[in-house]
Amino acid sequence: MARSVRGMPYMPEHIVITGARENNLKDVDLRIPKGLLTVFTGVSGSGKSSIVFDTIAVESQRQLNETFTWFVRNRLPKYERPHADGLEDLAPAIVVDQKPIGGHSRSTVGTMTDVYSVVRVLFSRYGTPSAGPATAYSFNDPSGMCPECDGLGRTVRPDYGRILDESKSLADGAVLFPPFRVGTFHGQTYVNSQDLDAHKPVGEFNAEEREFLLRGRGGRVWVKGSTFEVENDYEGLADRFERLYLKRDLSALSQKTRDLVQDFLSEGVCPHCSGARLNEAALASRIDGLNIADVAAMEVGDLIPVLARIDDPVAGPIAGAAVTALERIEAIGLGYLSLDRPTPTLSGGEGQRLKMVRHLGSSLTGMTYIFDEPSVGLHPRDVGRLNDLLLRLRDKGNTVLVVEHDPDVIAVADHVVDMGPGAGTGGGQVVYEGTVAGLRDSGTLTGRCLHRHPDVKKNPRRPTGRLWVRDASLHNLDDVTVAFPAGVLTAVTGVAGSGKSSLVSGAFTAAYPEAVVVDQSSIGISARSTPATYLGIMDTVRKLFARETGSEPGLFSFNSRGACESCQGRGVIYSDLAFMDPVTTTCEACEGRRFKDEVRRLTLAGRSVVDVLEMTADDALDFFAPFDGGTDKGVSRRLRALRDVGLTYLTLGQPLGTLSGGERQRIKLATQLHRTGAVYVLDEPTTGLHMADVDGLVALLDRLVDDGNTVLVVEHNLDVVRRADWVVDLGPDGGKHGGRVVFEGTPAQLLRAEGSFTAEHLRREVRA
Ligand code: ADP
Ligand code: ADP
Ligand code: ZN
Ligand code: ZN
Repeated sequence: MARSVRGMPYMPEHIVITGARENNLKDVDLRIPKGLLTVFTGVSGSGKSSIVFDTIAVESQRQLNETFTWFVRNRLPKYERPHADGLEDLAPAIVVDQKPIGGHSRSTVGTMTDVYSVVRVLFSRYGTPSAGPATAYSFNDPSGMCPECDGLGRTVRPDYGRILDESKSLADGAVLFPPFRVGTFHGQTYVNSQDLDAHKPVGEFNAEEREFLLRGRGGRVWVKGSTFEVENDYEGLADRFERLYLKRDLSALSQKTRDLVQDFLSEGVCPHCSGARLNEAALASRIDGLNIADVAAMEVGDLIPVLARIDDPVAGPIAGAAVTALERIEAIGLGYLSLDRPTPTLSGGEGQRLKMVRHLGSSLTGMTYIFDEPSVGLHPRDVGRLNDLLLRLRDKGNTVLVVEHDPDVIAVADHVVDMGPGAGTGGGQVVYEGTVAGLRDSGTLTGRCLHRHPDVKKNPRRPTGRLWVRDASLHNLDDVTVAFPAGVLTAVTGVAGSGKSSLVSGAFTAAYPEAVVVDQSSIGISARSTPATYLGIMDTVRKLFARETGSEPGLFSFNSRGACESCQGRGVIYSDLAFMDPVTTTCEACEGRRFKDEVRRLTLAGRSVVDVLEMTADDALDFFAPFDGGTDKGVSRRLRALRDVGLTYLTLGQPLGTLSGGERQRIKLATQLHRTGAVYVLDEPTTGLHMADVDGLVALLDRLVDDGNTVLVVEHNLDVVRRADWVVDLGPDGGKHGGRVVFEGTPAQLLRAEGSFTAEHLRREVRA
């Protein structure tokens, strides 16, 4: 709808939201200035994501999709209209989030940032001897890919050491792969073949016999099915295995079959291209002695000067374009990555920053960019560079919205929206809107936290022993030997790419497989899981209700006999109308409560099981306390665990699929709190935590240690680092400039350490 004011096109200056009610939002009205950087703050669960992602991003995507013909629209992701009275003057939104880039193994840092395609053009014009056009250098194109591995760089081969027991004869069961065993349909081919000696141990086969067993052709063999007997062509065991299980669309196989086959495969670097993914012609073509695979394997920081040296009139400008893009990657603190790094191996934070690089290169303006805690995984040293990039996106004429907890990012905001005052039903309101200076004086929780500059821990605990990791050399680790102190809280620090994950998630957990690893990866459970089922309290709850009401426990489950019959316990009816927005309507029969009416009339202390699932963990604690004495201590103990990890605002019935990465990590932690003498490993547990929530997290870690456990956290948050008993700092920088221990000691000693970026920033934090 074009509007104009006195003949000039009218450019709205704000995104205007009225009456937003998504999740916990309480009729939020908001005017967000366009063309500026707005940071959303507030404790976790206060409603930041509900505004930014579930309301603004969803609605602008939905409106954008509506502009396509419905033929196209049918192929786009479907969005439902968010709950709000009005949403006006939105701009197309681009969400740059932490969802792992994943992708298949053909996706690399080079392909996802498009730098690799520039490098291919460079080689096609300037490499000698030329292999042909740019596609001849592509491992995703038949004209460039290695013929052996189809450009994957790795091959998966049947592992004959596992498929065959060579000490046995075919008749005695030499074939171990179950679908080909003696007695199976396929197995008969080998036992019955006239050309093989079924009674000679396979290990004694000569080369010719062996070749026939694996790759032989010709000859006919009688095989019996359950109702028939036929004469079939002989097919070698290897050929058959590959035809049935490798050279076909694997997704057509059942998961069970895929898992089975997996046990009989081994994966390794492709012997033909040694992992370079390309064919001989592409690899023979060189610039300055380097082929394109060498270039792709270099760290970005090393590659820049190599390409910048090219001053040929034709190749120079192409190399220059690559250098510009590479400098953006370096500027965002990812100079330690190489173009050939597969994207599925990147962390969420690395992926988010790479996506950002791609958008910086785009010439779109007037967009709304939305970021979810972009500082995750970034050392305080690199937050300044992140800020520069956010500001550059803004200066290109975009609106930038950022959900953030890091005071250094909040500091550069043009505008702040502080949500609160609490979490869940205790939040959902805008408690402050305005400048950063105003936020500091606002008296809100966030405002008050910005004034804190506390000191390092004075009396660190004494270790009770040592957990050694010796000569670790995974990825960039440079023969690292470290003694992690037992019985204390240790923070492992260092800039991104310095090797923290390689040391902790890689080397340490390999040496101590019994360690309890609590990470942010998804919880592989069903869409119907809730905190109540995940914590394992539903059984007890059902029994309590059953005993009180004299009915069957299954009645108190919406996955079982208690389910509302109209919606099968989903609470909503989902109608996908081919060419309109999908509509989920609350189920009329149960009014969204998921249970049959009769179940809601069965109560325990005046509450139905529906009421219980709508309780927050906090409310549930009060409710179940009286039942603790006689019947079960389990419910209260498990609910307390939820409170201990700062998730009291979750309701017992909230679908687990709606949890953020940080929340997922904390709910996993909640199920692991009861141990003593264990080693806990956590990866950035402060992700998604407000400054005020960090206190609670550290208190929890302290309690774990006091209960006799050892706790290791990979962490950038200086508020955690200063309160650890021991710090292991890796560095000095990322990639091959890292991988060494630059400091080991107490936080107080770290304050005086030289040559550590972490020390520098800790000094600043404590002094400021
Ligand atoms: P923040 O981003 O500030 O951490 P959220 O907007 O994610 O907060 O959450 C606000 C409240 O809404 C919390 O109580 C959260 O548990 C709840 N919530 C978030 N997503 C959903 C959802 N999909 N369904 C139900 N409740 C949700
Ligand atoms: P940090 O946890 O400190 O950010 P990492 O341990 O993730 O550091 O990375 C250290 C180095 O190892 C970096 O150069 C990184 O690119 C490399 N690296 C990490 N994971 C992989 C992987 N799966 N494959 C190849 N290289 C990796
Ligand atoms: Zn190959
Ligand atoms: Zn229903």
